[in-house]
Amino acid sequence: MRAKYTGASLLALVTVAWLLPAGQGDAARPARAASVDASRLMNAASEPGNWMTHGGTYAEQRFANLTQINSSNAGKLGLVWSYDLDTNRGQEATPLVIDGVMYTTTAWSKVVALDAATGKVKWRYDPEVVKDRGHAACCDVVNRGVAAWGGMIFLGALDGRLIALDAATGKVKWSVVTVDQKQPYTITGAPRVVKGKVFIGNGGAELGVRGYVSAYDAMTGKKLWRFYTIPGNPANGPDHEVSDSVLKAKAGDTWFGKYWEAGGGGTVWDAIVYDQEMDRLYIGVGNGSPWNHQIRSQGKGDNLFLSSVVALDPNTGKYLWHYQGTPGESWDFTQTQPIILATIKIDGKPRKVLMQAPKNGFFYVIDRETGKLISAKGFVPQSWANGVDMATGRPNEVPEARYRKAAALVTPSALGAHNWHPMAFSPKTSLVYLPAQEVPFAYQTDASYSHKPGAWNIAVVAAINAPPNDRAATKAVRSILKGELLAWDPATQKEVWRVNHDGPWNGGVMATAGNLVFQGSARGHFSAYDAANGKTLWDFDAQTGVMAGPVSYTVGGVQYVAVMAGYGGAYPLSTGYGDGPERVAPNGRVLVFKLGGTAKLPPRDDAPMPPANPPKDVFTPQQIAQGSLLFEGNCGVCHGAGARSTGILPDLRRSAMLSDKEGWSAVVHGGLLQPQGMISFAKWFSKDEIEAIRAYVGVQAKYLASEDAAGAGKAGGH
Ligand code: CA
Repeated sequence: MRAKYTGASLLALVTVAWLLPAGQGDAARPARAASVDASRLMNAASEPGNWMTHGGTYAEQRFANLTQINSSNAGKLGLVWSYDLDTNRGQEATPLVIDGVMYTTTAWSKVVALDAATGKVKWRYDPEVVKDRGHAACCDVVNRGVAAWGGMIFLGALDGRLIALDAATGKVKWSVVTVDQKQPYTITGAPRVVKGKVFIGNGGAELGVRGYVSAYDAMTGKKLWRFYTIPGNPANGPDHEVSDSVLKAKAGDTWFGKYWEAGGGGTVWDAIVYDQEMDRLYIGVGNGSPWNHQIRSQGKGDNLFLSSVVALDPNTGKYLWHYQGTPGESWDFTQTQPIILATIKIDGKPRKVLMQAPKNGFFYVIDRETGKLISAKGFVPQSWANGVDMATGRPNEVPEARYRKAAALVTPSALGAHNWHPMAFSPKTSLVYLPAQEVPFAYQTDASYSHKPGAWNIAVVAAINAPPNDRAATKAVRSILKGELLAWDPATQKEVWRVNHDGPWNGGVMATAGNLVFQGSARGHFSAYDAANGKTLWDFDAQTGVMAGPVSYTVGGVQYVAVMAGYGGAYPLSTGYGDGPERVAPNGRVLVFKLGGTAKLPPRDDAPMPPANPPKDVFTPQQIAQGSLLFEGNCGVCHGAGARSTGILPDLRRSAMLSDKEGWSAVVHGGLLQPQGMISFAKWFSKDEIEAIRAYVGVQAKYLASEDAAGAGKAGGH
């Protein structure tokens, strides 16, 4: 018998469908995977059950307009499923969830498509990035996510490829190389797609590259335009790209000396945000290369467009306007941190604004219509500047912070008052939720600097930041390293509430219409906070640091919250103050929660670290001193300042090779472990220099052994 609908029941069905939040009627969606087009992306806010683009919608507010999970029931959240990853390297991706399928990336630029309700694998894709490329990654072999369009998933791979995958199968549709792979470029950022164009930037400004953003045709992979953020070597003539005219007119005169030798920097490694109201693209531009303005540009000039937000025409790449937060950048003050677009009331009037809290510690509110700065306020203590001159938009600098004549302890610093970790904006509370941190760094000009192609090139002496071999002193430094979740009112530029974390490098943030804020922590918590007052409503032990941005979505009318767990990135790898050196860091996971979820993680099975292995050889003080400079300037960025590893990359103080001169040389000079990503340093260092590095790590290993013997290991801090 054929089902017949009466007029009344049909009306009832239509009414029910109308009442259901869009995106929850998932059964009605087309069967084609990742069926995302211009109309769906422009109207993404009307599909709160999906998370179709990096920041949730083009405005990138990371606000889930879902209320099933809310501040009255968040305590009932439980794990539904988890998916184990194959590495303990950092996980930074924001998953996309489209019509019940989750697409996420992992360390080493791998992609996985999972059933968003069950965690069942649909497909996996590994671009097989050659492990050597890890050396070019300043801040771990991370990836922050994919973009979707027209049944395809787009990935920026660490080695500079932009790859289009069939969303149904994970098969490659096209792949293009977006960088000169002979140079130390990397891609860690998520592509964005607007009206059939894929936008992708790159990183590498610590090693020496010139930054740009490119647009490719989503269907074919054909390059459409490229915008260089800084001038190239004038001797090479114009680039024949859309940036030529503005670089000549505005940027050329702001650079001095042979700035092109180390590339100059200005990489667009994170924020690329589309303003659908203005049909504009905002790109966040990174730091200078090398960091040191004295060396990069003879200490002169603003060096446009370093450390700026630049507005472009997405159709052509043409320059529209810019705002530079740190003229003459000299501290690795990138301004590529996440950008949020919103309309907020300021002094009673609705204003279309762009909000950004870059590394330099200022929270900027910029008028999107004019590009004019509305307000800027320090959200953490700043020693490099006293506010911003609103007449010029320039910071009131503290001259000594430029370390021209003497070293200067500066806060915030290269680790940033806020790094890549996503912030969120709730239109319900009109607050921005910001993962902030306080990490000073001592800057000193490297008088012996010369550009070494492909190596670490910052022209700053890193060694003076190595943790002291003294327990009390280390503890004292630790106590000034802070991390906090700030609820910030952008209209008044005031803090409303804060959660103080135990140290820096805490997770990205998502806000929801259920009056909740979700954030992970470096210490392995994943928590829900009351959006109004910061009260902790729920807490989950993720067994490893959670840094990535959470998402929320619905499948079959059920609301889920998902986040990537996995510790890594610049702070834990490089500072020597990351946590947990006595255990090998566990592998990452995808974690998914719902109300009443009952799944459990298996017990943590991470292995203890091997003991310290100091060499018996006798080294000269000169060897040790030379080794200290070489290690801290080149090796510490991955293996930890002071050789204090967080257990993510090998702790060299415990390495079997450390007590074996020939073995050490075979690895560091001979490239024995190249297949695992430990490249040969023979092109930069002699065998004697490599032996000096062993001498220095040996001293650090001796100190570790003495601390372990004293039973200090379990207390951390070494
Ligand atoms: Ca940088």
